[in-house]
Amino acid sequence: MARFEFATAARILFGEGTLAEVAPAAAALGRRALVVTGASSERAGTLAAALAAAGVSPIPFPVSGEPTVELVSRGTEFARAEKCDVVISIGGGSAIDAGKALAAMLGNPGEPLDYLEVVGRGQPLLQPSVPYIAVPTTAGTGSEVTRNAVLGSPAHRVKASLRSAGMLARLAVVDPELTLGLPRAVTASTGLDALTQLIEPYVSSRANPMTDGFCVEGIRRIAAALPRVWENGADRQARSDMSWASLLGGLSLANAGLGAVHGFAAPIGGMFPAPHGAVCAAVLPHAMAANVAALRQRAPESGALRRYEEIARLLTGRPQAAIEDGLEWVAALCRRLEIPPLAAYGIGAADVPVLVEKAARASSMKANPIALNSDELSGILERAI
Ligand SMILES: [Zn+2]
Repeated sequence: MARFEFATAARILFGEGTLAEVAPAAAALGRRALVVTGASSERAGTLAAALAAAGVSPIPFPVSGEPTVELVSRGTEFARAEKCDVVISIGGGSAIDAGKALAAMLGNPGEPLDYLEVVGRGQPLLQPSVPYIAVPTTAGTGSEVTRNAVLGSPAHRVKASLRSAGMLARLAVVDPELTLGLPRAVTASTGLDALTQLIEPYVSSRANPMTDGFCVEGIRRIAAALPRVWENGADRQARSDMSWASLLGGLSLANAGLGAVHGFAAPIGGMFPAPHGAVCAAVLPHAMAANVAALRQRAPESGALRRYEEIARLLTGRPQAAIEDGLEWVAALCRRLEIPPLAAYGIGAADVPVLVEKAARASSMKANPIALNSDELSGILERAI
């Protein structure tokens, strides 16, 4: 067996009602908690009261939209002035990535651009983050167990990561109850992000035996649960399965990497106001088809082709399913969940060359099962528009 590494949050709590564990855990880690939330912070109110009762001062920091370098700079100054010694995120991927970045910057000197990949100076984060607790309220990003925070840099029109093993959360609390009220469109786009984050690590050039098991379990769960939460957002069993699958996706991508879909998501999200999950969903079926075609042409013996076959079986539930059945299943799910094409975000044919050039350099692209040439990358994007 090839050597591999696996790292994750120090502690993971999963299950309905686990939100109640956050305040006592925070009290063991600090006295002044920066509480990073999305734009609507209703649930954070419950958490803030529990924190206060546990002797921890909650310092609210709401974030609207996906986090930027500027937001993290401003938030770091604010949190340093407030003497925050623990950071808690409660929200979707944006709140979690923002909190994770802030916890890293509170533990290290300087500003985010000193450490940012691709567009920053890319210096290593030498010190660990201040203690960080992640509480996702969507089932999609898996960011509660990843070691990077994706930040937008409007000046460069791209997204790039702060990344360090020291950024892993001290505690990840995955309470499926928090996802019960998610709007339908968010359920769809975050759910398809979770599916992408299980498919890409499974066929990744960095896949390992531990993440393989997580991917197989997660893909099987999502195949049944995502159509169900789309039909009925109050289906507790299906919501719980989605939270579980999302967590498995985070564990997998953090240790096995991603691929072409996320390679495109970084520059598209940097240049256009498109939610990450919706972008991934629009690109996923076309990237899968292009990867399969390229593998058949240039690497017909590749193990990745057998993995695409396994994905088809897991998605359709049919042991005889062929790769094409899996591709069609994903495309049909995207239609059923009313995923708009990329044109809905103002992306057109004229944007293809620059997006392809940026995607080819994105860190996620390196783990794609086969190197795609610029014609193949352009083809994916043209079909996703
Ligand atoms: Zn993603």
